[in-house]
Amino acid sequence: MLTDYHVHLRLDDSPERFEETFTAATVERYRETATERGIAELGVAEHIYRFRAALDIWDHPFWRQYAFDDLDAYCGFVREETDLKLGIEMDFVPGREDRIANQLDGRGWDYVVGSIHFLRDHSLDTEDYSIWGAGESPEKVWRRYFETLAESARSGLYDIIGHPDLVKVWGRAAPIPDGDLRRYYEPAVEAFAESGVAVELSTAGWRKPVGEQYPSRPYLEMLVDAGCPIALSSDAHTSDQLGFEYERAVELLQEHGVREIAVFERRERRLEPLG
Ligand SMILES: [Zn+2]
Ligand SMILES: [Zn+2]
Repeated sequence: MLTDYHVHLRLDDSPERFEETFTAATVERYRETATERGIAELGVAEHIYRFRAALDIWDHPFWRQYAFDDLDAYCGFVREETDLKLGIEMDFVPGREDRIANQLDGRGWDYVVGSIHFLRDHSLDTEDYSIWGAGESPEKVWRRYFETLAESARSGLYDIIGHPDLVKVWGRAAPIPDGDLRRYYEPAVEAFAESGVAVELSTAGWRKPVGEQYPSRPYLEMLVDAGCPIALSSDAHTSDQLGFEYERAVELLQEHGVREIAVFERRERRLEPLG
């Protein structure tokens, strides 16, 4: 079994209207490519910040710039007009857990991917609002990132923790703490294990400046040792990115003793043989 769950039908800054992106033709293109690449389990997880409902959770100017789509229309389209699994990439915003739960309630998700793209008002992975240049030390940023990730797992809001070391996305173009980085991963791994959440192996890092999958090798080793289930995704934003570098990902997982991956239906998880 191969899965690709953390998938976007639209590019992050696409100006297309909902009706232009969410079409049978788009889905057919994604499904065909996935089939060619041996991916049986295909789902979508659009960014919450593309939907007007996001502004009930948080009103950061970055979100206000993009929040135009209707969340119910998205769920309706995926459920009624496609055979894709229905997911959402739901940012964790500390202190807004109730508001997040309100938006998740009653929408029939197959899975919810929890992501952290912002620490307070600063962005980890965009040049706009970037955390780098805000005068914070890399030690402080990394510590806060992994502590917030732990908090997101403990919130119980999520099925999958997405790109679990996104803080490294810029590679050497941003400051990185010295020495063994496992001290940062520790609180997150502990929280994942305690809460029983699945953690994503995302191949997207291989097409980002860092040039490394999420999570890093030592981090993956810690996750496997702690017994965390692994979910496999590409974070594709185009059909061509589906299953990106999966051969390498499967090899890496096997090398770490991962034989099964997490599969989701209506927020129930089961494990299926990997490959
Ligand atoms: Zn993301
Ligand atoms: Zn994503």
